Amino acid sequence: MTGRSEEIGERLGSVRERIAAACRAAGREPDEVSLVVVTKFFPASDVRILADLGVTDVAENRHQEAVEKSAVCADLGLRWHFVGGLQSNKAAAVTGYASVVQSVDRAKLLRPLARGAAEQERVLDVLVQVSLDGPDSRHRSGVAPDGLAALADAVAAQDDLALRGVMAVAPLGDDAGDAFDRLAELHRSVLADHPDATWRSAGMSGDLEAAVASGATHVRVGSAVLGSRPPVQ
Ligand SMILES: *Cc1c(COP(=O)(O)O)cnc(C)c1O
Repeated sequence: MTGRSEEIGERLGSVRERIAAACRAAGREPDEVSLVVVTKFFPASDVRILADLGVTDVAENRHQEAVEKSAVCADLGLRWHFVGGLQSNKAAAVTGYASVVQSVDRAKLLRPLARGAAEQERVLDVLVQVSLDGPDSRHRSGVAPDGLAALADAVAAQDDLALRGVMAVAPLGDDAGDAFDRLAELHRSVLADHPDATWRSAGMSGDLEAAVASGATHVRVGSAVLGSRPPVQ
């Protein structure tokens, strides 16, 4: 074992322990929550270590980086998630490596995603990203809550796309628990029309406990597993 794999192994162990503890506190089973490790900015060699340590799901947020890393790691059998901002002219290409796109925030992405999935001869799993920001704050990505139902319907209506659920990032400076409770409410409204859309992706390194407490099925954890990233440019 190299120093790096020991380091990642220890960090991963404590993240898994945090998830398990949060599940116990919430009366949930640990296997109700899937860990998706966000590998953006980290090298393919780290992805390989993660796979050795039993990680099955990784996520990237930049297309070009994801193309390169997923190609080098194609032998690992990992499930790749895309969680970043998507341009519609890149959307089809994302399906070349991603089995899940968590960041669908507008209808314009759906046709290119569906076309890409059809070319790959598989169904793409889609989460609709919803914004939990207040109306006045600077918008981070995600469809506004009042557009969620229509976008979810539009995903479900596309052949080659499977609506699996919703995703959100807690707004900066807001209480994560409150934000994730709003997401839970929004998710329930989607489930009323789409009972198979059971995934709720919420929670990152700093707020995964709040996400698990509110019923998240997927947490997306980067720095707690891999260390701190260089600051975003
Ligand atoms: C980077 C990123 C994460 C992981 O963030 P950490 O704080 O490093 O755990 C989760 N979700 C999205 C959408 C991200 O871009």
